[in-house]
Amino acid sequence: METEKLILDGKQVAASIKEKLAKRISRLSEVGIVPCLATILVGEDPSSATYVRMKGNACRKLGIQSVRLDLPSSTTTAELIAEIKKLNDDPNIHGILLQHPVPHHIDEREAFEAIRIEKDVDGVTTLGFAQNAFGFADYPSCTPAAILAIMEYYKIPLEGKHAVVIGRSPILGKPVSAMLLNNNATVTTCHSKTKNLADIVRLGDIVVAAVGKPKFVQSGWIKPGAIVLDAGYNEGNLGDVDYDACSQNAYAITPVPAGVGPVTIAILLKHTVDAAEKYAKRR
Ligand code: NAP
Repeated sequence: METEKLILDGKQVAASIKEKLAKRISRLSEVGIVPCLATILVGEDPSSATYVRMKGNACRKLGIQSVRLDLPSSTTTAELIAEIKKLNDDPNIHGILLQHPVPHHIDEREAFEAIRIEKDVDGVTTLGFAQNAFGFADYPSCTPAAILAIMEYYKIPLEGKHAVVIGRSPILGKPVSAMLLNNNATVTTCHSKTKNLADIVRLGDIVVAAVGKPKFVQSGWIKPGAIVLDAGYNEGNLGDVDYDACSQNAYAITPVPAGVGPVTIAILLKHTVDAAEKYAKRR
């Protein structure tokens, strides 16, 4: 008997996260606090502008304030850091998101490091990354946290599973590998120098694609019954997984769009509310 394919519906997961936030936001308003996320966009990259707009809209829909800083592409590293410091010092701002990538002449790492840990809701600082690796981060990177949230929502057990992650970027591949490991999966992290990639992916009970190449993961790479999470988002609404082909073998799979993307935004909102609550306790 053929079992039915499980489509991991990111919109449903995001809705359940946001539903819980609504109550917490109204409790904060009783003590005079409106959670506020500051987003910084440097330059005119159209995809980045779309992401920032989507995040701002998602905030507003839920009653989270969003402050948007649009800086010209000529902004220097020092000027960007000065803006971040102002946001660090502003008690009405609870989370800061610097949209990646910034123009090449800016030292992105230095700019990320300027974000105070209490406001690093996107988990981009070295300290936030290290806390996540240890397993006690307040704000792990949003996309890795979204991937874990999807598995939690669908009650997919991780313990003892072999998870294969394709990609090792500091915002995605590495932190999601650490989170899977902290949840007792056995993790293999692959990258552009990995040999026999398809053979390794075929060992995965769980496959996370974080490559940045459309339809990169092919059908023959997926072990029958595996769970496939596609973090990729490429031009033309394409993921890093060849969805139609890979869903033949997969037991469960995230679509693109409406998979990891909406959950990433919901996690960002959750982290902003978490940060506002922490501020309320210590002020
Ligand atoms: P990235 O920084 O470009 O990293 C890509 C990773 O893939 C690198 O580690 C690279 O290996 C590896 N890679 C490249 N070619 C490969 C190959 N042929 N075989 C095996 N590995 C290969 O990208 P990223 O920022 O992690 O993003 C990855 C994807 O996720 C993109 O599609 C991006 O749009 C998407 N994304 C989605 C969200 C969301 O909210 N859904 C958020 C962030 C990113 P090396 O390290 O060896 O170069």
